[in-house]
Amino acid sequence: MTNEQKKEIRVRMAPSPTGPFHIGSARTALFNYLFAKKYQGKFIIRIEDTDQTRSKKEWEDSIKKSLNWLGLDYDEGLEKGGPYGPYRQSERSEIYKKYIEKLLAKGNAYWCSCSQEVKTPNQVHIHKCDCAENQKGQIRTGVIRFRTPEIEISFNDLSKGKITYDASLFGDMVIAKNLDEPLYNLACVVDDFEMQISHVIRGEEHISNTPRQILLAGALNIKPPQYLHLPLILNQQRAKLSKRDPSIAAKVSDYIEQGYLQEAVVNFIAFLGWNPGGKEEIFSLKELEKEFSIEKIQKSGAIFNAQKLDFLNGYFIRKMPLEKLTELCLPYLADAGLVGGPARNASQARHNFADVSGRSDAGGGVAIEKIAPMVALYQERLKKLSEIPELIDFFFKENLEYEKELLIWKGAGDSEIIDNLDKLLNIISNIEESNWTKEKLNEIIMPIANEIGDRGKILWPLRVVLSGKKASAGPFEIAEVLGKGKTIQRIKQAIEKLEKLGF
Ligand code: GLU
Repeated sequence: MTNEQKKEIRVRMAPSPTGPFHIGSARTALFNYLFAKKYQGKFIIRIEDTDQTRSKKEWEDSIKKSLNWLGLDYDEGLEKGGPYGPYRQSERSEIYKKYIEKLLAKGNAYWCSCSQEVKTPNQVHIHKCDCAENQKGQIRTGVIRFRTPEIEISFNDLSKGKITYDASLFGDMVIAKNLDEPLYNLACVVDDFEMQISHVIRGEEHISNTPRQILLAGALNIKPPQYLHLPLILNQQRAKLSKRDPSIAAKVSDYIEQGYLQEAVVNFIAFLGWNPGGKEEIFSLKELEKEFSIEKIQKSGAIFNAQKLDFLNGYFIRKMPLEKLTELCLPYLADAGLVGGPARNASQARHNFADVSGRSDAGGGVAIEKIAPMVALYQERLKKLSEIPELIDFFFKENLEYEKELLIWKGAGDSEIIDNLDKLLNIISNIEESNWTKEKLNEIIMPIANEIGDRGKILWPLRVVLSGKKASAGPFEIAEVLGKGKTIQRIKQAIEKLEKLGF
């Protein structure tokens, strides 16, 4: 691309606020954003709310918050405005009206109140009528239809190459309900032109709209933008991913709710239909901005692999500074009632995604330094932030509930458990508070464990006594975080319980 061409790059994402912002829309937004960044162009958000009955303010908010959370800043549109506004279609009806009148005046569109249909050779019902001839433009009732020329129409998709449609199979499409209510295809053509959009990058599900939009543009003497359709997102069975597919989270807000990190989601969706080649699969948004190129967009469907997302999330969790990770975990802990929180509950905090990473009141004054060592024990294995309460809840409990069978290491007799716990109690009571570290515990306890012959006989019950869980971090790490007082208290409680049970 020449420098001159680069300057003129203007792309848009044109969501309809008729439902929550889902992962496919996030991908469209990301690819437009990256394309604009790559060529120092402009990225525009246009709200396509021609369907007034289904469009809702809450869904527009979901678009705004999702883009914000994903870190996809835009140059014009939504609340930012800009030189080609308004950017909400419901506020642009005067503009569309001029174009509709132009099409009517030229005979490219006509009023129609009938429902006559014909069948195409492949048995599709399309609209064809003679309203235009009968009414000669005198009657202005019904809907406004485009007189679709019966021609072959081709365009060059920047990813898929030449695509040809037979427009005689389209029929005369409705382009507006009346002069004030245009439908999507017309409003889109007018806006892409008025907003000087150079490239339309959108999902493949819109590919059949493209020839229709090119025909409309032609009738209006408008030069259409260049088109690029992103491959469909498919599930593991290679079927088109449905927004209702239970195996994936469709909404961006679900990802946030489940505790996926922005970095992981951005990295993940970048690979839904794009691959830079080579082995590297970890990319930050900044790196993607440099690396992205439309030549590497794949033509065939993009498989949605949820394990890959978990892998990426785990990776970014491990890379994250502990303090930041702890802050992000706090709303989940507050939600589970493990830490105090602000008046607003944690799930609400998470819906307010813009605030999630902010320190503000997310922790409700909880000392990060207190929680961070607990989180640290699980940073290596954590896949999603939402897993954290279940992993560290035992640190917060006064009394742990566990089955006595859980205490028994294979081959150990019941009475051995109390003996071993007693032994432990004796030796660790002598450790100075200031010396209470996992290294010290290891140094003191391991010789005894080795002496017993089977280390599990002492390490297993100790771990269970401290965590109450079948699986957890190691006993010395847990004991270090719990502190001497609580560790001793938990061992004593266990011995008491066992004695009551008649061990
Ligand atoms: N409003 C359409 C949608 O939300 C997008 C149309 C387009 O990108 O041209 O799917």
